[in-house]
Amino acid sequence: MMQTRGYAALNSKTPLAPYSFERRKVGENDVLIEILYSGVCHSDVHQVRDEWGGAMFPMVPGHEIVGRVAQVGGSVTRFKVGDLAGVGVFVDSCRNCGNCKKGIEQYCDGHLVMTYNSVEKDLKTPTYGGYSNQIVTDENYVLKVSPKLPLEKVAPLLCAGITTYSPLRHWKVSKGQQVAVVGLGGLGHMAVKFAVSMGAEVTVLSTSASKKEDALKLGAHHFVQTTDETAFENIQGKFNLILDAVSAPHDVDAYLNLLALDGTLVLVGLPEKPAPIQPFSLVPRRRSLSGSMIGGIRETQEMLDYCAEKNITSDVEVISMKDINSAYERMLKGDVRYRFVIDMKTL
Ligand code: NAP
Ligand code: ZN
Ligand code: ZN
Repeated sequence: MMQTRGYAALNSKTPLAPYSFERRKVGENDVLIEILYSGVCHSDVHQVRDEWGGAMFPMVPGHEIVGRVAQVGGSVTRFKVGDLAGVGVFVDSCRNCGNCKKGIEQYCDGHLVMTYNSVEKDLKTPTYGGYSNQIVTDENYVLKVSPKLPLEKVAPLLCAGITTYSPLRHWKVSKGQQVAVVGLGGLGHMAVKFAVSMGAEVTVLSTSASKKEDALKLGAHHFVQTTDETAFENIQGKFNLILDAVSAPHDVDAYLNLLALDGTLVLVGLPEKPAPIQPFSLVPRRRSLSGSMIGGIRETQEMLDYCAEKNITSDVEVISMKDINSAYERMLKGDVRYRFVIDMKTL
């Protein structure tokens, strides 16, 4: 076993603290990655605080991982020692179901092994995430990372990036389409960059007036402050696609009315409470309400390559490992532009 250092939550009520644990030895198909940067996703907070239920402790969060390959197993063909590498939200899947075979492993009908707060394929051994100095992962679930982009700005692409890229591709966002992004956070700011790069006319719908200037700098064409009572009046029926990346309960129904004929609202945000929906918000314009979860390994690689080609990265604030608990508090207050990333040298 390999002794590993990290930060863990021991239960849902106490702050994260230093924690030592063991990872498996590098197997035939495994890659050992020395972690350089680990992004801080709002899902980390949901899970550490057990807001979705079923949390497993001790929990070492982190699923936006970039680092350098330090060792490879005997059968590994895609990586060699010294390569840059990334790990995202899952580290294995059943590999046999139709969805795995199609390369959309995130929708595995068998057991999807999440990077943390999950168990390995033996259904026993807990998985531990990226708030740690190293990770051992099967090479088939490891991404290639280009040396062209600053690594700390690449880490958030492994979750925030793919989670927004995938639905924009699935719903075929292209030139001339009207796209709205609800919630300008870690996911939202990536959605704006991607949708703009795909040629859409992009509107940010935000509760934070202070983010207007940023939204326009990120490339958005319009900004609507949703706390303004009259905000929705002029944009009824406007959008072909709305990407909802809000982390807290909010009035999803009000946003449905902003969709054009045949428009789709895609939920990527995962608040812990249900949202009431009026049939009248969907029926008269044949609107759809959908959801989307991260992306498969193939599409994640496609997204990373797209980012390297188009010079797209996340806007980040690099923090020390010891500041993780205050970073969570700041993220909950919306005080981050737009992703915290832990510099693992500080562990
Ligand atoms: P984040 O950085 O904290 O951003 C969330 C944004 O939501 C905030 O910046 C804020 O934007 C808005 N918001 C927060 N509280 C709100 C409220 N009470 N009412 C209205 N708007 C509010 O979070 P994130 O990391 O981007 O994650 C967003 C959500 O996506 C989380 O629920 C996370 O678990 C989920 N997620 C899902 C997937 C997936 O596969 N589907 C993957 C990763 C994350 P404004 O200030 O602009 O209003
Ligand atoms: Zn995430
Ligand atoms: Zn499967």
